[in-house]
Amino acid sequence: MSSPVRTTPTDLAAAAVAHPARAVVDLSAVRHNVGVLAQAAPTAQVMAVAKADAYGHGLLPVARAALAGGATWLGVAQLPEALELRAGLDAAAGPAGPRPRILTWIFAPGAPLGRALEADLDVSASAPWAVEEIAAAARATGRTARVHLKVDTGMGRGGARPEAFGDLLHAALRARSEGTVDVVGIWSHLACADEVDNPVTARQTAVFTAALDQAARAGVRPEVRHLAASSGTLFHPATHFDLVRPGIAVYGLTPAPDVAGSAALGLRPAMRLEARLTVVKPVPAGTPLSYGHTARTSTDTHVAVVPLGYGDGIPRAASNRGPITVAGRRLHVAGRVCMDQLVVDLGPEGADVREGDTAVLFGEGDDVPSADEWAEASGTINYEIVTRLGARVPRLHVDPEARP
Ligand SMILES: *Cc1c(COP(=O)(O)O)cnc(C)c1O
Repeated sequence: MSSPVRTTPTDLAAAAVAHPARAVVDLSAVRHNVGVLAQAAPTAQVMAVAKADAYGHGLLPVARAALAGGATWLGVAQLPEALELRAGLDAAAGPAGPRPRILTWIFAPGAPLGRALEADLDVSASAPWAVEEIAAAARATGRTARVHLKVDTGMGRGGARPEAFGDLLHAALRARSEGTVDVVGIWSHLACADEVDNPVTARQTAVFTAALDQAARAGVRPEVRHLAASSGTLFHPATHFDLVRPGIAVYGLTPAPDVAGSAALGLRPAMRLEARLTVVKPVPAGTPLSYGHTARTSTDTHVAVVPLGYGDGIPRAASNRGPITVAGRRLHVAGRVCMDQLVVDLGPEGADVREGDTAVLFGEGDDVPSADEWAEASGTINYEIVTRLGARVPRLHVDPEARP
């Protein structure tokens, strides 16, 4: 699932020749961002959320960088991702290496939970059936499961609703009394934390606190209480509790572009998406471009072909809009985004651009577009721009600040 690690300049150059496009992921930015998040939540531990191949950045290299940056937990949504993560980390660390805590929270009835316990994963339960399956897996493997009980404080998605939390708690207490389950966490997820003034966050926090009190009265005092993702970590200190679970901010992207951009938050976007031009050619004024002829050149000009398309995860919705920097100039997609390619009108100054020159779709800094601009151009959020990037695009992991 995750992409191979390539970190040396030689590998990078070789990959750049073989592949016309690449996502360059700066691991020093990941470490930096985890440090920023740890400082924002000084009383909490940091769980770096690395689901969906680390939001498209490459699971294992990012996970290792997040740990090096100070994260003590890793979070992934689905069980297979968690198994892959544990196996990959173990292979890199060796038998005596550290084993960070890994939480996984999405599985359906009948999932191979015994494998989760053998991999020393923490698992979540939102309903009694999940606790019972976890307990059965614990009996079968002879292990004690570490369980995080999830309460739906207002997200309206996973978790036991407050009126059903007592049943979940009792299922966990039954399993605890037979020694199959240890309740190590109680947790929930915020729905509106990216809107800093939205009163829903305080209401969810109050419901969460009530659930913690209910658990305490039943004799459950978990090691970690956790509620905050990136927005909670950055904007709502009252949601920090013992552990914060940032995802998007680990990758240097703002969880709330309307509140603050990445740079204002001290975050460094880790991914740069770039491609080498495959075609550059002069065309006369009035030349229609790409499928459906939705664009037409207004002057005699040069056009360039960028070898990235919706087959690589470039949103077709960004046709005629998506921003691109070529040879230091800010341009945009001309005409429709195709499956493998898109066209850029280089304008009158484009005569000096050559095949093989690099086009940057997004990255860090003022001289290239941001993932936020791509989100804006596509009617979506920066999360989707990086996460949807296709498997065909190699992820090249670089570490400019690595100690020799
Ligand atoms: C994805 C996810 C996160 C991370 O969210 P960000 O907004 O990317 O920080 C945290 N917790 C849960 C349960 C999630 O599903």
